[in-house]
Amino acid sequence: MTNTTQPLIGARIGREPVAPEHPTRHELVDPATGAAWASVWYGGEPEARRALDSGARAQPDWAALTAGRRAAALRAVAADLREDRPAGELAGLITRETGKRIAESRAEVALSAAFFEWFADVVSGRAGQVWDHVPGLRHEVGDRALGVVAVLTPWNFPVSIPARKIAPALAAGCSVLFKPSEVAPASGLYLAEVVDRHLPNGVVSTVVGEPAVISDVWLADRRVRGLTFTGSTRVGRLLATAVAPRFTRAVLELGGNAPFVVLDDADLDLAVDVLMVAKYRNNGQSCIAANQVWAPRALADEFAARFGRASNRLVLGDPADEATTLGPLALPSDPARVDGLVDSSGGEVWRADTAVPRAGHFARPAVSVRPGRDSAFVREEIFGPAVSVLEYDAIEEVLEAVASSPYGLGGYVVGAPRRAADVARALDVGIVGVNTGSPNTPQVPFAGLKDSGIGVEGAQLGLDMFLTRQTVAVGDHR
Ligand code: NAD
Repeated sequence: MTNTTQPLIGARIGREPVAPEHPTRHELVDPATGAAWASVWYGGEPEARRALDSGARAQPDWAALTAGRRAAALRAVAADLREDRPAGELAGLITRETGKRIAESRAEVALSAAFFEWFADVVSGRAGQVWDHVPGLRHEVGDRALGVVAVLTPWNFPVSIPARKIAPALAAGCSVLFKPSEVAPASGLYLAEVVDRHLPNGVVSTVVGEPAVISDVWLADRRVRGLTFTGSTRVGRLLATAVAPRFTRAVLELGGNAPFVVLDDADLDLAVDVLMVAKYRNNGQSCIAANQVWAPRALADEFAARFGRASNRLVLGDPADEATTLGPLALPSDPARVDGLVDSSGGEVWRADTAVPRAGHFARPAVSVRPGRDSAFVREEIFGPAVSVLEYDAIEEVLEAVASSPYGLGGYVVGAPRRAADVARALDVGIVGVNTGSPNTPQVPFAGLKDSGIGVEGAQLGLDMFLTRQTVAVGDHR
């Protein structure tokens, strides 16, 4: 489907690629080699407007279909995504443009299908209600689709994050204006094509381009009733400000800085295994990546040494090669950024002596033991294969530090299950893995606290974000 010798066309409107009126061509760089592998024609303001007009026209008819018809379209999308295996065309694109290891890219495609399946199930099970609180009045309470929604997504999960938003929006009867990240547009455009195959004209439109040019058109227009954004807290704030004057409903899934708490009764080998997943998933570039390990003072050095030994066994290399266990970072500037954070952490720094490829955007795994608690390395999202190890004497110290962090997305606790679950419940974050590095799945809510965002994705609540309730009071007077 993707011919890399021809530039990709960054706009799909009316289920077709649309040549931009003022095209500018941008190269896409393969993080594993640092070389350009494809290019994309950016869409701009005219395409953003066309997409919006088309979405606004299509939305009422889409919402008027039965939930069952919409659910069937979602299931057809899911079936196509599941067929990506074993050929792996979409998975291959994700790996090519983000550097994600191929096994994780395949898992991302499967997870994306699961989001379409889940929201097909959820919408199929919804029903309106009739209440009889007032004599002579019948209150009919039903769901209405929010309307046209803008879907703006990051590069780090370029298919599953759009799926987590587009599936519930479509299930609810919304039309979608989709802007994939300009860092990873190829897999987003591929997803758009799969979705378009099963939907009426205009229900989904996709534009890749200068982010603010496109979002300014969409978010300034009253016809856009919802915004669902995943990305950095910085951009989330800009977008929240943009929609505030019209009180547009916004779901914002933003940055994180996940604590990883080792309890004094933890099995340290299990803790290392869990941290290997929580830290190195997506090459360290996950919003719920473990950033700070909190270990009891007596265990900190031993834990850091064991984690270091495990990290030394990582195989850095081509993410398309199954033997690779740590791929490159997506952006060319990221290895130096991560190294800089580690170097200025103020801790005792250990770096893996595993071989690091010369070409591409590779960063050497690093651990900083006892870094400054006020260092940027501890306070900010790392987004790379580096972690701090901090010591604690009493668990309250950890809980306070987490509560005072502006972030509140993910966290992890390793220890005897009952006590570890108690500690997890006391952590001021939205989702916690207890003795697991993979806490999330489509059926459960994913919702950041504080500067990590507002609104919920996943679960039944994920659908509610795209619905409004309407009450119709029907009098039985003739
Ligand atoms: P980003 O904020 O740079 O970009 C996200 C999206 O916003 C992209 O589509 C981008 O084009 C767009 N954008 C950028 N500047 C914009 C502007 N001025 N106006 C309008 N749109 C703009 O984030 P990223 O680097 O793509 O992704 C990494 C970030 O996303 C990390 O902070 C990570 O924690 C966060 N993230 C959060 C979750 C979550 O569920 N909470 C999941 C994944 C990633």
